[in-house]
Amino acid sequence: MRILLTGSAGFVGSHLTERLLADGHEVVGVDNYISGQRGNTALFAEHPGFSFIEADVSHGLPDPGGRLDWVMHFASPASPPHYQQFPVETLMVGAQGTQNGLELARAHGAKFFMASTSEVYGDPHVHPQPESYWGHVNPNGLRSCYDEAKRYAEAITMAYHRHYGVDTRIIRIFNTYGPRMRPDDGRVITNFVHQALRGEPLTVYGDGQQTRSFQYVDDLVEGIVRVMGVQDHDPVNLGNPVEFTMLDLVDVLREVLDQPLATRTEPMPHDDPRQRKPDISRAKALLGWEPLVPLRDGLRRTIDAARRGERPTEAEHSL
Ligand code: NAD
Ligand code: UDP
Repeated sequence: MRILLTGSAGFVGSHLTERLLADGHEVVGVDNYISGQRGNTALFAEHPGFSFIEADVSHGLPDPGGRLDWVMHFASPASPPHYQQFPVETLMVGAQGTQNGLELARAHGAKFFMASTSEVYGDPHVHPQPESYWGHVNPNGLRSCYDEAKRYAEAITMAYHRHYGVDTRIIRIFNTYGPRMRPDDGRVITNFVHQALRGEPLTVYGDGQQTRSFQYVDDLVEGIVRVMGVQDHDPVNLGNPVEFTMLDLVDVLREVLDQPLATRTEPMPHDDPRQRKPDISRAKALLGWEPLVPLRDGLRRTIDAARRGERPTEAEHSL
C-alpha cells in the first residue's frame, strides 16, 4: 500500500514508518519539525519505499500524486510543554490539519486514520476509561489547546465518515514511551530517564500520587497495524492497562537501574489528570490485541537507547 503519514518525524511517526516500510508498504512522510527531529527523517532517507515532504499540514496537505491508500494523521505536538509552547499551532493541526487530511483522503478514495488521545477523557471521573466515556475536560484551561483539538479532530473525522462516506479509523493513544523521544520533550519517562542518567534528582510534580498507564511504543505500533486491518470506525483505546503512580515509576526505575535515585518535588501543573488507565476490552475483542511489553522491559530498552545516545539530531525548537 502507499501511505501518507503526517508527523513522520516524530516519536511515534518514526516507529510507525519503520514498521510500515518493514511490512513492504510505501510511506510518504510529511512533517514541519515543530516538535519532531530531522534525524528521524534521515533514518529512512536511503529506503526506496520512503519519500518525504517538509510542510505544515495546517496550511495545506501537499498531494504527492499517484495512488494513495491511506492518509494517517499523526502530526501534533504531544508533550504538555510542547503543546503549551505552541497552543495555536496545536489547535490548528488538530482542526485544519485534520480536515486537510480528510480532504486528501476523500480526493484519493483513500482511508483516513486519526491519532487521537486519552486526553479526550480529561481528568476522568470514570476509571478505567472505556471508549463510551465522554470525558471531563476543561474547555479553556492550559491543556485545552490539545484536548479540544483532538476532540474536534474526532468530531470532524466522524462527520466526514457519516456525511461523505470516508473510510475512517480513530485510535485513542494512552501515554506511550520508548527510544527516539526527544530528550527535552518534558514527558515524565523522558525526564526521569535522563535525570537519572545525569545523576540529578527526579522531578516529581505534586505529591506523585497521580497515575498513568505506560505503553511501550512497539505495542502501540502493533495495535495501529491491527486497526488498519479491521473495518470499524468508532474510537479504539490503545494503551497498557497497568497503572502506576509517579512514585511507583520512581521505584521501578530504581529497580531497573539498580541504583539509588533522589527525587525533588515540583508544583503540580494546572489541570493535570489525577488518574489515567485504559479499558482495553474493545481493542482485545476487535483486534485480538493487548500490550506485551511490561514497564520494566520497556524502560530497559529506553534507557539502553538513551545511553547509546540514540537521538537523531538536535531538535528544531528547544524548550
Ligand atoms: P511528537 O511531537 O514526537 O511527533 C509529532 C510530529 O508531528 C512531530 O514530528 C511534529 O514536528 C509534527 N507536526 C506537528 N504539527 C505539525 C504540522 N502542523 N505540520 C506537519 N507536522 C507537524 O509526538 P508523538 O508522541 O510522536 O505523537 C504522535 C501523535 O500521537 C500525535 O498526534 C499525538 O497527539 C498522538 N499521541 C501520542 C501519545 C504519546 O504518548 N506519545 C499519546 C496520545 C496521543
Ligand atoms: N510528571 C512528573 N514529573 C515530570 C514530568 C511529568 O511528575 O518531570 C507527571 C505529570 O504531572 C503527570 C505525569 O507525570 O501527572 C505524566 O506526565 P506526562 O507529561 O508524561 O504526560 P501527560 O500528563 O500528558 O499524561
